Amino acid sequence: MQFHDSMIDLVGNTPLVRLNRVTEGLRATVLAKVEYFNPGGSVKDRIAVRMIEAAEQSGELEPGGTIVEPTSGNTGVGLAIVAQQKGYRCIFVCPDKVSTDKINVLRAYGAEVVVCPTAVDPEHPDSYYNVSDRLVRETPGAWKPDQYSNPNNPLSHYHSTGPELWEQTEGRITHFVTGIGTGGTISGTGRYLKEISDGRVKVVGADPEGSVYSGGSGRPYLVEGVGEDFWPTAYDAEVTDEIVAVSDKDSFQMTRRLAKEEGLLVGGSCGMAVVAALRVAEGLGPDDVVVVLLPDSGRGYLSKIFNDEWMADYGFLAEGDQDRVADVVA
Ligand code: PMP
Repeated sequence: MQFHDSMIDLVGNTPLVRLNRVTEGLRATVLAKVEYFNPGGSVKDRIAVRMIEAAEQSGELEPGGTIVEPTSGNTGVGLAIVAQQKGYRCIFVCPDKVSTDKINVLRAYGAEVVVCPTAVDPEHPDSYYNVSDRLVRETPGAWKPDQYSNPNNPLSHYHSTGPELWEQTEGRITHFVTGIGTGGTISGTGRYLKEISDGRVKVVGADPEGSVYSGGSGRPYLVEGVGEDFWPTAYDAEVTDEIVAVSDKDSFQMTRRLAKEEGLLVGGSCGMAVVAALRVAEGLGPDDVVVVLLPDSGRGYLSKIFNDEWMADYGFLAEGDQDRVADVVA
């Protein structure tokens, strides 16, 4: 019989697919690592498995323990799946601006979600930061993975994403492009690829305009999951050869093109990373192989990026799409 012991065994080993249309006019091969094939639908399943298993080994997480993490998104889903299979309780803390759909996904997997007000100072006892710290202190057997500082976040990519890309491209990868959120993906994957290629593989970070990684002040942007207003310790800036800053408008227009032209319904940080990858590929030749990592699926963004009115409100619609909205209104 062919079967897997549990969904945990299906984490990783995601496919690489060539981008064929959005790359028109380029000579280099551009391949996408499609992370929505992970059981929780994102790249974050990888870090969930490794952070939990490392905490079991170190004794920080004991049988029947409780995982407490401030997260509303992909990391929560990954942690919730691994936790339920291994018999841990999960409590996630998230700000009240998070959509009910996202909260319901976490609850569907059996996690508890504590929602905190956004409109209070970070020092306020009800703030997002203070509530998660208090839950860790007051819950017996609590353990906080803290993806921003946990070395097993980048290590999970050093041991899985990096080797997968090297094998899948038979060592022909020349450039690796990915968004930077906690920095785990770029630091772990990038370090592995540099080591195994004797420094030949170039590592490029994609960042929303305004974020600190590309020299911004942390001013707001709309792409989710990437960019920061501080420097997390999970990010190893030495691995990155170049950072490409991408606007919200370019990111979202490319995200829509990926669905329409490549059959890839992916999230906004994927569009952002592809814009950066295409800029990198512009100067390259036919022997170059650019791999761009696409962190999650577009299903979580249907009412935003894939909603014409939302896009039009921000002035993000491409010209062809603008006509379609006008037709519908007329
Ligand atoms: N895109 C999305 C949608 C994400 O959730 C994340 C994780 N925060 C990233 C990109 C960036 O990955 P990393 O945290 O490994 O830098």
